[in-house]
Amino acid sequence: MANLGEVLPTDDVVNPNIEILQSVHSKSLDSPEKFWANVAEDLYWSEKSGPIFEKLEKPPFGRWFSRWKTNICYNSLDRHATTWRKNKIAYYWEGEDGTSRAITFGQLFREVCKFAAALRRLGVKKGDRVTIYLPMIPELPVAMLATLRLGAIHSVIFAGFTAQAVADRVNDSASKIIITSDGAYRRGKVIKLKPVVDEALKQTTSVERVIVVKRAGNDISMEEGRDIWYDDAIREQQSDFPSAEMVEGIHPSYILYTSGTTGKPKGATHSSGGYMLWVYYTQKVVFDVNDQDVYWCAADIGWVTGHSYIVYGPLLTGTTSVLYEGAPDFPHPGRWWQIIEKYGVTILYTSPTAIRSHMKFGEEWARKHDLSSIRLLGTVGEPINPEAWKWYFSNIGRGMTPIVDTWWQTETGGIMISPQPGISMIALKPGSATFPLPGVDAEVLTESGEKARPMEKGYLVIKKPWPGQFMTLWNDPERFSSVYFSKYPGLYYPGDYALKDRDGYFWLLGRADEVLKVAGHRIGTIELEDALISHASVAESAVIGKSDAIKMQVPVAFVVLRPGFKASKELRIELLNHIRNTIGPIAVPDAIYFVDKLPKTRSGKIMRRVVGALVEERPIGDVTTLEDESSVDDARRAYEELKNEIEAYRDES
Ligand code: ATP
Ligand code: MG
Repeated sequence: MANLGEVLPTDDVVNPNIEILQSVHSKSLDSPEKFWANVAEDLYWSEKSGPIFEKLEKPPFGRWFSRWKTNICYNSLDRHATTWRKNKIAYYWEGEDGTSRAITFGQLFREVCKFAAALRRLGVKKGDRVTIYLPMIPELPVAMLATLRLGAIHSVIFAGFTAQAVADRVNDSASKIIITSDGAYRRGKVIKLKPVVDEALKQTTSVERVIVVKRAGNDISMEEGRDIWYDDAIREQQSDFPSAEMVEGIHPSYILYTSGTTGKPKGATHSSGGYMLWVYYTQKVVFDVNDQDVYWCAADIGWVTGHSYIVYGPLLTGTTSVLYEGAPDFPHPGRWWQIIEKYGVTILYTSPTAIRSHMKFGEEWARKHDLSSIRLLGTVGEPINPEAWKWYFSNIGRGMTPIVDTWWQTETGGIMISPQPGISMIALKPGSATFPLPGVDAEVLTESGEKARPMEKGYLVIKKPWPGQFMTLWNDPERFSSVYFSKYPGLYYPGDYALKDRDGYFWLLGRADEVLKVAGHRIGTIELEDALISHASVAESAVIGKSDAIKMQVPVAFVVLRPGFKASKELRIELLNHIRNTIGPIAVPDAIYFVDKLPKTRSGKIMRRVVGALVEERPIGDVTTLEDESSVDDARRAYEELKNEIEAYRDES
């Protein structure tokens, strides 16, 4: 008998709701003004004059709410603190050392007002840039919200970046103030932060004051007249709180330098009106949050995911969330699952890299805890390997909860392609981010700009401006146009490889600049990585293309094994054969290197360009965003060791 799935369109079998999604999607594109005006009703605007959307002749080809006025801090706090939500928990903060704090919307509001008053006293006003270099402590969202309250612009830098990375970002944004802490806890150790700032300040001239939160109690030096303790700064502020400065929709809210997976960081600059609307809307549509939820986005606020879905999305929607300070495996690999049980977390949002780490630790850690409160899972940051998707679904979702695989970028402000349980739930496919959200006119184009056929690989584009779109790259409008708007003139080019399947589902296949071109075939790195991970021995892998005189490029793979498996020549041959059998002979790697860890950014993404540089024997370039420098030595060692052995096993296989 024929497979039913081949005979009937999938929609008829399992997707009765798909039409609902499609109809909301068309409405949003046919009459955007009306659609977004309706969403904007939920939020507070002090002025609503002029159109919601205006077309522009040059990139980004549109702007939103340019003459409307609002304030993101006001919408995140004042709006709730004057209702019953005043006593609702905004954050359950869990320190790595086991200390915890529950903070209500009312308390958060008061703390933000106090700190905004302190910033104002130190001279911060509308449009000034404030750099924030803090660990995952409550003072981090407080500092962000207080900055926006005054109409100033924040630039948050991952706590853990080097002095050079801090100096580059402070100089680019010309920040007047830096907010930092004495230190941070990471895996039980104290990481010093203030000395990094001191070092960075030797190379900058714009900073007038440094505000220091006491967190780890490590010894630091304070410079008279420049440095001030956070506690001292807010102590005098018992009243006279600044009211929220109402700013134009296109007033910048923040600059966020992208993680630098591919090169020199870019200062994505977000708006106030459109950005606020987008995170509010996507938090609802994708996570379907309600007042009973305890939502946890286990990312770092130093990454855009944390900005949009730890700080602004949950607060704008009045959602209770968890803020966790530390590492996922400290003091044991079950820490996350323990936190879920402790707070009764209902929604967990994390990254494929974190899921793969937990797979490596083993599901027995999750089994020790009651995870029955979870009703929705999410993932973001990289394509999720179907193997990791299934592990997450079975072990964390108990084989029941949907997974929202959310595709978006720093530049897009919020989620763009994802399942939308807040509108209507459809059948999911492991590894597919499913469909564009309302307002997102996404398509897959071929190299020459034609619409790709179903199953044909190509490049993702967004054809129309959307409210959450970033407005520019700080200080670099030329790069803004050339990186994002020149490949397909007039369209936004995110730089991702993708395809649409026969049911119209979108599959994101990795970065366009990492696509391999092997003997005339294009292969996304993620396709090969998926195939490797589907082998029982492989926990993680990074595939890159190595130049080759005949084939143009040949794939090479760096592989981290699961516990219980040992690197050996036999295993290497088995993996090569596994690729031969799953993808085909064309994709068989030229070499497989076994390593203990892969080079990753602080946001957990594999830095393929770093291993690529090793193999090509080129300089490694900017690695200020690297999480663990020893991973590069590890990869280098594996590469050197195998170099001599390569010919031998190639003959055998
Ligand atoms: P840089 O732009 O500086 O190199 P980055 O692209 O890693 O850094 P982000 O903006 O955090 O910085 O990441 C966005 C990218 O992450 C996307 O362009 C895409 O390649 C990848 N990505 C994010 N979510 C998904 C997803 N759900 N599926 C596939 N890829 C994803
Ligand atoms: Mg990017």
